[in-house]
Amino acid sequence: MPIKQIKEENPFESMMQRFDEAAQLLDLDPNIYKILRWPNREITLYIPVMMDDGNYQVFTGYRVQHNFARGPAKGGIRYSPDVTLDEVRALASWMTWKCAVVNIPFGGGKGGVICNPHEMSPGELERLTRRYTSDLMDFIGPERDVPAPDMNTNEQTMAWIMDTYSMHMRHTVTAVVTGKPIEIGGSRGRREATGRGLLFVCNEAVKKFNMEVAQTRVVIQGAGNVGGTAATLMHHEGYKVTGLADISGCVHNPNGLDVPGLIAYLKEHKTVEGYREADHVGREEFLELDCEILMPAATENQITTENADRLKCKILAEGANGPTTADADAIVADKNIFVIPDILANAGGVTVSYFEWVQDRMGFFWNENEVNSRLHEIMVNSFNDVVRVAEKYNVNTRLAAYMLAIDRVAYDTKIRGIYA
Ligand code: GLU
Repeated sequence: MPIKQIKEENPFESMMQRFDEAAQLLDLDPNIYKILRWPNREITLYIPVMMDDGNYQVFTGYRVQHNFARGPAKGGIRYSPDVTLDEVRALASWMTWKCAVVNIPFGGGKGGVICNPHEMSPGELERLTRRYTSDLMDFIGPERDVPAPDMNTNEQTMAWIMDTYSMHMRHTVTAVVTGKPIEIGGSRGRREATGRGLLFVCNEAVKKFNMEVAQTRVVIQGAGNVGGTAATLMHHEGYKVTGLADISGCVHNPNGLDVPGLIAYLKEHKTVEGYREADHVGREEFLELDCEILMPAATENQITTENADRLKCKILAEGANGPTTADADAIVADKNIFVIPDILANAGGVTVSYFEWVQDRMGFFWNENEVNSRLHEIMVNSFNDVVRVAEKYNVNTRLAAYMLAIDRVAYDTKIRGIYA
């Protein structure tokens, strides 16, 4: 593989390219620039876990705390064989910018463990999670760093983290993680929050371009908590969801998919293979389908210099973190595609995580309408803030989102001062 491609697909490089460009346009104070370029802290852990056969395996795990200027670090933990420190670094800094774009009082962090959760038993996953948590005892907490779910982690994982942390503290500390089951301090609406946030920003974009919801074709890559929920909510809103993909394959129906039927099929068969109500298309072809909204909601590096020129959407709504490489940005911009960048588009999840943290600390829980209407307000305001910055500086919306975020974090860093 040519070096350029390796570099293009390094998410930390992708983040840095945009950061540098935004910092330059903002004429960022060079001292603040130096500070914001680096994560605050990177923790590497070697986690011994007794496997079901009685032998031990040692897993490598990370927690990167990128920035604390605006509050505790905040961000998910992912379990995947592909986790790298550079990826976690990028994801941690994206959390800093994401929290600043939606103006919630958190910095950014991210965790990752190199493992294959699909090949591990629930017992092995529980032991891994608990040991990872106890090794991080001095670094996490409601005022320090608040983890949440990400790829291949879920409400159960968060319950184990909360319990382990609480055992060490000798009392129940619900606010140490978000994305918990509702019964033990989770928030109503958290599970659907990322998908719902995507719906809200897509609605704003559709309004901005005077498009009709019913005539808007949506192609969604990813059928998990983000893509699957977004597909369901967009379908109920009246959008024509014409494409949906998961790891097992990609389906397309130009007349609109029966989303509830397809999701039920996926739940039952764990694959789209054999689904008869739609055409099956290849992975590359899928992203190049003719549509109004393309929503990559799976993983990084899906839109690159290789395929960006072949996109046929009008709006790119980034449900995943880092689905577009920095090198592909210019191609997407040349095609006049309106980008709802990841740090805005998928911020619904962390926004309701913030609500969960607030509710846990108050010990007073809101109903789902309250959660959803506060989420709506934040997503719409943030969308408008980004569009305003884009217009003011005559830049694309991705750069505008970075500029909005960096400006906020820089201001807070400056006013706090650098402790020496
Ligand atoms: N993992 C999600 C994200 O990337 C949610 C993070 C959170 O709720 O803290 O935004």
